[in-house]
Formats: sequence, C-alpha cells, structure tokens
Amino acid sequence: MTKRSPDRTGWSLTDHVCRACLGGRILKREVCSSVEPAFEFICSNCETRSTTTGGVTVQSICVCGSRFNDVPRGPGKRKGQNMGLVCMPNPNRGPSSPSVIVAGEAQ
Ligand SMILES: [Zn+2]
Ligand SMILES: [Zn+2]
Repeated sequence: MTKRSPDRTGWSLTDHVCRACLGGRILKREVCSSVEPAFEFICSNCETRSTTTGGVTVQSICVCGSRFNDVPRGPGKRKGQNMGLVCMPNPNRGPSSPSVIVAGEAQ
C-alpha cells in the first residue's frame, strides 16, 4: 500500500456526483501548474469536466452546486436559486440502488 501522496497522473474518487447526469461519480486529479495547486474534475459517466485554479471546487460540476439556471426543473423556482440538493452517501444502498454516493435533498 502506498501512503497518501499526491498522484499527478491518477484520478481519485470524490464523494460527489455529477449534476449533468445525476449519477456519475466525479473523479479528481491534481494537474501541474507553475502558479498554484489546481485540480481537474471529470464525471466518470458523461465526462463533464472542469478544471480549477485556486478557489474553484468540485461544486462547479457536482450536484451540491446546482442552481435552477443550470438544471431548469421545478416549476415556480427562481433561476439562480440553490436547488437544495447535495451529494450524500446512499442511505438505502442495495441491489436496486448500488450507488455509493447519490444526490439527495439537503437536510
Ligand atoms: Zn455526468
Ligand atoms: Zn457535491
């Protein structure tokens, strides 16, 4: 086993799922930057990707950051309003719902 050390070529799992396909697990890797640490995120399912420098986080593509202008559903909701969804461990994991992380409503 290797210790936790930056792996500049490999992807690692995050505890977040993709907002575009509502189910793809988001992977993360550190990318080389001469200026500051940066990460690249990609959905393992639909390959939506986001590259960050500095303050941007996985929430730019995960369900946690969903706003109504990104995913236009829910009549009566204002554009730009946070949808109140978060990425969470699947509370009912089993044969019919094997996902480890699912999109759920924030408590
Ligand atoms: Zn996706
Ligand atoms: Zn998330």
